[in-house]
Amino acid sequence: MNHATSPILPTPIVKKGDHVLVVGLGKSGYAAVRFLLAQGVRVSVSEGGRAPQLDAEKIQWLQEKGVYCEIGGHSSELFGKVDAILLSPGVPLALPALAAARARNIPIFGELALARDFLKAPVVAITGTNGKSTVTTLVGDLLKAAGKEVFVGGNLGTPLCEYLAGPQEAEWVVLEVSSFQLDTAGLFRPRVAILLNITPDHLDRYPSYAAYADSKWSIFRHQQPDDSAILDGDDPEIARLLAEAGANPASPYAISARRFVVGERTVGSGAGMAGAVAQVRGLAPGASTEEYNLAGTPLATAPNSHNAMTAIIAARCCGCEPTAIRRGLAAFQPLPHRLALVAEVEGVAYYDDSKATNIGAVASALEGLKQPVVLIAGGLDKGGDYRLMRDIVRQKVKAMVLIGSARQLMAAAFADLIPIQFAESMAEAVGKARELAQRGDLVLLSPACASFDMFDSYAHRGEVFRAAVQALRSRPRDVRGGGRLCPIMEALVA
Ligand code: ADP
Repeated sequence: MNHATSPILPTPIVKKGDHVLVVGLGKSGYAAVRFLLAQGVRVSVSEGGRAPQLDAEKIQWLQEKGVYCEIGGHSSELFGKVDAILLSPGVPLALPALAAARARNIPIFGELALARDFLKAPVVAITGTNGKSTVTTLVGDLLKAAGKEVFVGGNLGTPLCEYLAGPQEAEWVVLEVSSFQLDTAGLFRPRVAILLNITPDHLDRYPSYAAYADSKWSIFRHQQPDDSAILDGDDPEIARLLAEAGANPASPYAISARRFVVGERTVGSGAGMAGAVAQVRGLAPGASTEEYNLAGTPLATAPNSHNAMTAIIAARCCGCEPTAIRRGLAAFQPLPHRLALVAEVEGVAYYDDSKATNIGAVASALEGLKQPVVLIAGGLDKGGDYRLMRDIVRQKVKAMVLIGSARQLMAAAFADLIPIQFAESMAEAVGKARELAQRGDLVLLSPACASFDMFDSYAHRGEVFRAAVQALRSRPRDVRGGGRLCPIMEALVA
């Protein structure tokens, strides 16, 4: 049983005349209110933020529609007197007011749970610690290249409720889903379910890593035998969960550099890379191996080669033809701030991977790179264990420049392996990286941390990096090189 939601959700989950409380008034919560009102449901809202942070126009609209709004906190009284509670994705299940609802057996669910009763089209759902947005976008692109009418959204871009509230014209719905959304997904049943990887993240929101991994695995929970499951067979946590799994997923497609082996188990179908060619096998009984040449595209190397193989199988499961898929693959461009080349300056390539906010994302970026790397990392610590990156850092990173409040913690994890410098700003970090890099090296911003101690968002951090790299062109190189070592390095050198 999903530990998070109510054990039994009613069918249909909401009906005309019910009183439903929407918790959280972000983009998704607001769309949920509109959807529920259209179902003839009486809606109340509870939002923990203060009124000045909220859009005055929205508040006025809610009042005009007769929606009761509790702003600036959550009261047990309101939570205990409604028929059901719809949680926005960002709202923690540990919210104290939810105890009042649980005590009265009031159903608690998120927007994915609405899909069972209200979504007309089949779903491709994508989860994993890293790569969700990339794969969601790519699957959407491949389906569109095959001429299919698609809605792409969920945790990325447009919330599902917004689509549910509209005319629902798509043939396929492609959804990025977070672990938080899966925790409140009820009987959500994706026709194609994708699990990309599981590495430590969001440990502040889960009692343990195992609980976080179980949450990800639950994407397969309500699939039926004729549904498709795609997972990454090279991921040790996924291999462990598959070994323990019961009926679901019954016969998954495995993405694997080791070809159709997951842990101890051999699976009949899936994909692997032969050089830059993705080979896909076992799509149907007796079907021959299909080849997709990714050479010359940003999808040719890991981790994007894994994303490409996953998306190819998903698109085939949705009935797309290989020729259309090849067209879609050739046109794909990486999303901003995900291993995106910014510029080459003095023979050094500068890559923006600002979206890498956990160690798994940084490790996978480093794995795919061939050149020696000067890594710019750091920011706001999220509680991960940086020491898990020691092996890959030893192999791929020649020096590190650390920024932000986590820099001491990170320096302690790597100081005995490579030279480390500290910087106060992104511009200083880029300047120091330039001094450390030689022609043929690569400077990578891949922070392994959140951005909020120095920037508004990961995108803002990436833009500041981009501007600092562009500014290098107009500044002569500091021939003295080096800069000051961080205190831990100074201590080691002394
Ligand atoms: P998400 O939506 O899960 O955060 P993104 O596509 O936005 O995923 O990518 C986030 C980070 O993860 C980027 O730094 C990107 O380079 C890295 N990444 C992309 N695909 C993968 C993958 N399959 N495995 C590990 N890391 C990945």
